[in-house]
Amino acid sequence: MKTIDNFNFSGKKVLLRVDFNVPLNKDFSIGDDARIQAAIPTIQKIRKDGGAVILMSHLGRPKTGPEEKYSLKHIVSHLSQVLDCTVKFADDCIGEQAVKMAAGLEARDVLLLENLRFYKEEEKGDAAFAKKLADLGNFYVNDAFGTAHRAHASTAIIAQYFPENKCFGYVMAKEIANAEKVMHNFERPFTAIMGGAKVSDKLLIIESLMDKVDNMLIGGGMAYTFFKAMGGKVGKSLVEEDRIELCKEILQKAKDKNIQFLLPFDSITANAFSNDAILGEADNMNIPEDMMGLDIGAMARKSFYDVIVKSKTVLWNGPMGVFEMSNFENGTKAVAVAVVEATEKGAFTLIGGGDSAAAVAKFGFEEKVSYVSTGGGALLEYFEGKELPGIAAVNA
Ligand code: AMP
Repeated sequence: MKTIDNFNFSGKKVLLRVDFNVPLNKDFSIGDDARIQAAIPTIQKIRKDGGAVILMSHLGRPKTGPEEKYSLKHIVSHLSQVLDCTVKFADDCIGEQAVKMAAGLEARDVLLLENLRFYKEEEKGDAAFAKKLADLGNFYVNDAFGTAHRAHASTAIIAQYFPENKCFGYVMAKEIANAEKVMHNFERPFTAIMGGAKVSDKLLIIESLMDKVDNMLIGGGMAYTFFKAMGGKVGKSLVEEDRIELCKEILQKAKDKNIQFLLPFDSITANAFSNDAILGEADNMNIPEDMMGLDIGAMARKSFYDVIVKSKTVLWNGPMGVFEMSNFENGTKAVAVAVVEATEKGAFTLIGGGDSAAAVAKFGFEEKVSYVSTGGGALLEYFEGKELPGIAAVNA
């Protein structure tokens, strides 16, 4: 893997693709600057070498061209503060002004380009657009793991214009190394914990991981389609009728492969999708008609805990319940506690996906697990066994 530690950037103009897709408040102040902080070591390494940095990012999902609320100009002053230097800003990512500003850069200067997604060519992976970006610099660094599963102009297509001068930044390098460790160099017992709302989003990753893991733990809304597949009564719980057959196949496959496929025995139930709903408890084969399962129950918490703490490798993606509401956060919290304990006992624990990362942060456990990935979709696709375009393009 070629990383920025393999190069000296003295005299270079480095096009650095970062993920500055940060949440902005109504007054355009930054809600959480974690993504900006994550990119700082890469930016500073290039500057320390004596290179100039041209930052490229997207922000939000603009529909048809420039939109004030998605302008990256809102982050310039904060970025300047964090980097302790004046960050220049080009209010168009290509065109005359960007060309002029890039040409005028001196050693250690930082230039931020306006939101790449103001051009539809970005998401289309347009080669001519990528070439215009490429012409602004003479080296390409990709440090945006969150978009590594997209073959966009700035995340993948652009790399072809830098046959030699391209590499990964520190965020990407760390993400890839940790994902590879879990995918290829894991220690047994290997436990995958899958949760979240829909089973349809996770079927591919479950199938792919079944070739590797010893234990597959299933929680969250997606568990109820499995119980329906087993003939259970799941009341008003989330069920994807069109995935029932696939769930049956997965259950059979788990038997054939002799892995422990652990579904939550019971649920915390509610009569409505609300924190103020009337609560109950039920075993998942017999949930009352007017109730829905919104968290795993006490027995499930115990059985999941017992498996997780004995594991040597843990991959966790997706919450065990509607953890955003306090009445349904206990299952996710119990799993987080177990993952922390496993980590303390020497397990390698990787937390992936936006919601599992948010849950770990909510409970204050970020520093107590081995690694919290910055990529939701990208990490999922990696563990589905797909080649990520953003990684392949730099490795090519
Ligand atoms: P995902 O984006 O698929 O990982 O799903 C995350 C979302 O699933 C979270 O917002 C949870 O609130 C939601 N979720 C988890 N468990 C359930 C459940 N039993 N019923 C409905 N939604 C759930």
